[in-house]
Amino acid sequence: METINAVVRRWQQDAARDPEGFWERAAEALPWFRRWERVFESAPPSFRWYVGGQTNLSYNALDRHVARGWGGHAALVTESEWGERRVFTYAQLLEAVKQAAAALRGLGVRRGDRVAIYMPTCAEAIVLMLAVTRIGAIHLVVFAGFGSGALADRLGAAGARVVFTADVTYRKGRAVPLKPIVDAAITEGRLPVERVVVLRRGSDAVPMLAGRDLEWDEFLAGAAGQSSAHEVMEANEPAYILATSGTTAKPKLAVHTHGGYQVGIYSAARWCFGLRDTDIWWSTSDIGWVVGHSYIVYAPLLIGCTTIAYEGALDHPTPATFYRIVAENHVTGVFTSPTAARLLMRYGVEPARGYALDSLERAFCAGEVLNPPAWQWLQKELLGDRVPVIDHWWQTETGGPVVGNPYGLAMLPIKPGSAGIPLPGFELAVVRPDGTPCAPGERGLVVLTRPFPSLTPTLWGDPERYRRDYWERLPGRYVTGDAGAVDEDGYVWFAGRADEIIKIADHRIGTVEVESAFLAHPAVAEAAVTGRPDPLRGEVISAFVVPKAGVTPSESLRQELLQTVRQELGPVAVVGELHFVNLVPKTRSGKIMRRVLKAVILDRDPGDISTIEDEGSVAEAREAWHQMRAALAGQQP
Ligand code: AMP
Repeated sequence: METINAVVRRWQQDAARDPEGFWERAAEALPWFRRWERVFESAPPSFRWYVGGQTNLSYNALDRHVARGWGGHAALVTESEWGERRVFTYAQLLEAVKQAAAALRGLGVRRGDRVAIYMPTCAEAIVLMLAVTRIGAIHLVVFAGFGSGALADRLGAAGARVVFTADVTYRKGRAVPLKPIVDAAITEGRLPVERVVVLRRGSDAVPMLAGRDLEWDEFLAGAAGQSSAHEVMEANEPAYILATSGTTAKPKLAVHTHGGYQVGIYSAARWCFGLRDTDIWWSTSDIGWVVGHSYIVYAPLLIGCTTIAYEGALDHPTPATFYRIVAENHVTGVFTSPTAARLLMRYGVEPARGYALDSLERAFCAGEVLNPPAWQWLQKELLGDRVPVIDHWWQTETGGPVVGNPYGLAMLPIKPGSAGIPLPGFELAVVRPDGTPCAPGERGLVVLTRPFPSLTPTLWGDPERYRRDYWERLPGRYVTGDAGAVDEDGYVWFAGRADEIIKIADHRIGTVEVESAFLAHPAVAEAAVTGRPDPLRGEVISAFVVPKAGVTPSESLRQELLQTVRQELGPVAVVGELHFVNLVPKTRSGKIMRRVLKAVILDRDPGDISTIEDEGSVAEAREAWHQMRAALAGQQP
């Protein structure tokens, strides 16, 4: 049987034969105020899509559905870990957005101004995002778990004049104050922020600076007499900017436009996720990440379906929270991350019992490689093989999926561990460091060989950095920074960040392969590995392993795990040392920070760790590493 079926093959061929015609037809699936003059215009290292076309991302997400008689359909459901549930129909959401749009104008916000949103994933934050794009201003959402330093960097880079925040966010039952962090960021960064608007949810007093700070209700009151009309935007005007998850001190702000971004995420919603307007869709992400922008907010609303936004931890107040939300809302499609999947896996299938998950038709995962053991658990054990669990790959910069399983067109066989094929319209290659193509199965650098509509056309305020970081290394190609291989069937296998590949003797081993091998053992909940310099072999593997709840680390478990890795990967995968820990360092978006482990084992400063979820993980890794070294030293004669 042919792996890539005839339907998908035809889409791919159409796109390859005439990429501009292909993306032109994709754009025609959405209404425009005015049709474009040119589909694509190259201005290296940047480019423009649908030049001269007029649209508005927020208008197409809301007004057009109300206009077609869909106003009574549920648009947004917010759920929270403390059980609060709110429902907005398309008509209600549009009304709320119009009011906020007028109020933004009342604050003096105009087209092109940057508005920062440092808020949890709540209804008001989503209303604001849509209101900002409605009036042609540009939002910068900053994940409400970042501290004042990271917030100041982002506000400063964006030049935000207005900041929206809440008094608190809730995480695992704890109220975490946000307003003092905004105050500290503005002071530390000496930022020229003119207005801070505070959504109050808790009852405690919040320090307010007279003349600068406003309560949410005062903000809304400013809508009186202001227009709530949408702006007509040229396709290439930015809708929002968003920091990539890169961890350098100076954030990189990807730019996403009203036109190309809209076409890209809408197309992927249909082709990859198979979204229809009758779907009840839940992306478990946070509005602070690109997944939240594209697949909690914009694409589901462009489609016209019901989107669920959840504030809190997926395992709070009980490990059944995830299942409760799916069952009570009759969710038909879910999008989560491997980190969340491994969290659920840690509790086993027991918490799911008693919840009807039969509304679910498909599940998607992105953010890291969905390790085959986690895929196996999700699809086979949890979902009884009834529902496909589909990995797909993308980045903040790409706005939406690039590699995936085109479920919405015609589903291909799933190969666990592979993110799928380049979706129709997206061209990807794996190359050697000199730019020559890799053979099938050969690991190399993953590059994108042609711009597509949702790819960031620049970095906000730093086009030179855009050229240098993405397009300069291999001219004419966008370097993703990831390593991977393409197999004989065209499936892409991501192996981790290119600069994290471990080189043992003459072999190059992806960090992901080793971590997947550890996860194949039933006692392992999480694993993170890095390469440690070794005089004999170049590098050996230094592994940090989190055992599942109830498993006690022991010497015999260590031996079993080493044996498992050897079995899975063969003798080349030399594990130099294995540490049992409670946590591995991760970003707040759930990605393992291997460079931090590398710094620990090299006794180096880990550099900027403002994006880390829990600093205790660094101290723990360091402690484990030093203890091991002390023990080894003690064994020396
Ligand atoms: P971000 O910009 O925060 O969305 O992170 C993008 C990075 O996450 C990519 O460059 C990859 O390293 C990683 N990533 C995202 N999705 C996947 C996936 N399905 N498989 C492997 N890595 C992924």
